[in-house]
Amino acid sequence: MNEPVFLKPVFKQMIWGGNRMRNEYGYDIPGDDTGECWAISAHPNGDCVVDGGEFDGMHLSELYKTHPELFGDNKERFPLLVKIIDAKADLSIQVHPDDKYAFEHENGSYGKTECWYILDCDKDAEIIIGHNAKTKEELADMINNGRWDDLITPRPIKKGDFFQIEPGTVHAIKKGTLILETQQSSDVTYRLYDYGRLQNGKPRELHLKQSIDVITCPHVDRGTEHEVLIEVEDSKVEELVDCKFYKVYKCDCFGTLTFTDSTNYRLFSVIEGQGNLSVTGSEKKYELKKGMHFIIPKTCTDFVLSGEMSLIMSESKAS
Ligand code: ZN
Repeated sequence: MNEPVFLKPVFKQMIWGGNRMRNEYGYDIPGDDTGECWAISAHPNGDCVVDGGEFDGMHLSELYKTHPELFGDNKERFPLLVKIIDAKADLSIQVHPDDKYAFEHENGSYGKTECWYILDCDKDAEIIIGHNAKTKEELADMINNGRWDDLITPRPIKKGDFFQIEPGTVHAIKKGTLILETQQSSDVTYRLYDYGRLQNGKPRELHLKQSIDVITCPHVDRGTEHEVLIEVEDSKVEELVDCKFYKVYKCDCFGTLTFTDSTNYRLFSVIEGQGNLSVTGSEKKYELKKGMHFIIPKTCTDFVLSGEMSLIMSESKAS
């Protein structure tokens, strides 16, 4: 098998969503409140379908189960999930559990480590990462008494910024931000505060006890790597993060980028421009453009990207 696996995204409408995925990516979104595009996902809440090729129409979860040779990591479930998030309004302030807590309290689910590449944002856009409580007691007091301004200090962001969000980290994407998120395949979120908003006339559920249980105190900022691994003429591959669950890279292709002896399957999202993909051993050339998402199986060890485009690439790590 030496062909890429293209996937059809699954869209989610959210009270904070917008329409930038239609206007900027050309997706056929279900409404002007589309908050999330699950672009590479085998999660039961949004299991992508293969678009074209040998496995056309198959769910990614099924491909992962029935063709382990394409992935070679022998996990029970496909481990990663790639999303685009369009935040027209603020997302709730939230936190995710780690694997241990999620496994015990959320029916054996994975925990959630995630990272954000800022695709675009308003000039004055901000994001929330971390909190100001020094101890669990202070944290509980701030949360239970709604002292949000004491607990949280937003920070400014700009296009191209990248953040790693470890489990236990208080975080929120704020309005005017378009993000590409790479995360563990999990849908477990504990909401601390939702700005008092209503959805269908009711506030969305909060999870204060679980939040206080899992929030790391005091907050520790996790830096990111930004190490340039390949640089050939104008093209380069930069490692953004290397954590327990994944590695994420930014690939800038101006001309060609050649990958040889690749030992893992890789997830790709074209975030800018257009070009082509060819896999050694195959005559076929695949056209790529902004908004396309695909997996290059482990069986394709040598492949070439060409054109003028930027991609976010990720790979799962054994853990
Ligand atoms: Zn999150």
